[in-house]
Amino acid sequence: MKVLIAEDDRASQVRLVAYLKEWGYEGVVGNDGEEAWEHFQVEDFRIVICDWIMPKLDGIELIRRIRAARRPHYIYILLLTGKAEKADRIKALEAGAQDFMLKPLDKDELRVRLLGAERVLNLVEHLASHNRELENFNKELERSNQALRSFTSLVSHDLQEPLRTISGFIKLLQGRMQQHLDERTTEYMDFVTDGTSRMQTLITDLLQYSKLRTGEQKLVLVDCQELFQTAVADLDAAINGCGASVTCGELPSIHGDRTQLRMLFQNLIGNAIKYQAGSQPEVHVDAKLQAGEWLFSVRDNGIGIEAKYLEDIFEPFRRLHTKQEYSGTGIGLACCQQVAEQHGGRIWVESEVATGSKFYFT
Ligand code: ADP
Repeated sequence: MKVLIAEDDRASQVRLVAYLKEWGYEGVVGNDGEEAWEHFQVEDFRIVICDWIMPKLDGIELIRRIRAARRPHYIYILLLTGKAEKADRIKALEAGAQDFMLKPLDKDELRVRLLGAERVLNLVEHLASHNRELENFNKELERSNQALRSFTSLVSHDLQEPLRTISGFIKLLQGRMQQHLDERTTEYMDFVTDGTSRMQTLITDLLQYSKLRTGEQKLVLVDCQELFQTAVADLDAAINGCGASVTCGELPSIHGDRTQLRMLFQNLIGNAIKYQAGSQPEVHVDAKLQAGEWLFSVRDNGIGIEAKYLEDIFEPFRRLHTKQEYSGTGIGLACCQQVAEQHGGRIWVESEVATGSKFYFT
């Protein structure tokens, strides 16, 4: 490693070069501050040993220039000085020296200070390489976010548009040809209508999920009691359709994104009503303060979930049933997990098959 020596005293120069050579460094000498600055501009140094008082350009000014040069690598500067006053030490450190050593030069002291310098340089290099990795990772992340945003807009426009055309014309055909269609053709037409409506739901759910991952949160104070009422009103048809009882305990107001939290409540309550095996659904939503955070729960008396699937069901598209058994796209719980995590929380479930499930989120 090359070390720049800015020193006007001939005897000190000779000793410094000899010591450095002994320890495996190459010392390059500038006979005054100006000459050292010229070396610095054309050669690559990681360590500079610099005298304070020199002709033309003193040590402090040289250090200021080196710091202002903003090299891509960190440079460790050791100032040699006869000045031992506190004010001098502060001045040297403020100019950008890392360390200073009192003259006359002591070989052992110089050795340990150089070893210290190398340790600092290694650490800085290590941090810089981590930083570069992090920067690359961030760039990669930004690229994939961009790709996801493009995909979202593609899905929303390019896929929804032809789907609307298909379902629109099928309805038109059904209306116009009603009297001329035999039973089987009517059934085929119904398959098409059903298929397009399922695809529409899937696209809407997918969009919702990707918006959660790429969109921004708008945090406000949300009254969860009110949110519960809204979710129940949204699910009115499903609740009345099966005569479900949906109740809640005392729910708090929390800081969160209203739209996201509404989706969370609606998905969990919706599932609690849907995954039933004939008995009247009983759903209860509650919250309690635990270890400084709100722990919410949504309990049902439904079909329950086998222990081996308790984690899998939060993955996108993971379903445990066929569409014939229970309708759905498998995206609801993945959305719930996104919402909980984006609020700095977690979501999980405890369940017993044929008895019911209890979803928790914080
Ligand atoms: P979807 O309801 O559209 O299938 P979700 O992501 O909401 O998608 O749920 C994933 C799977 O988890 C469901 O297919 C179902 O098997 C299971 N599940 C979710 N909620 C419940 C519940 N309350 N009781 C039993 N199973 C559930």
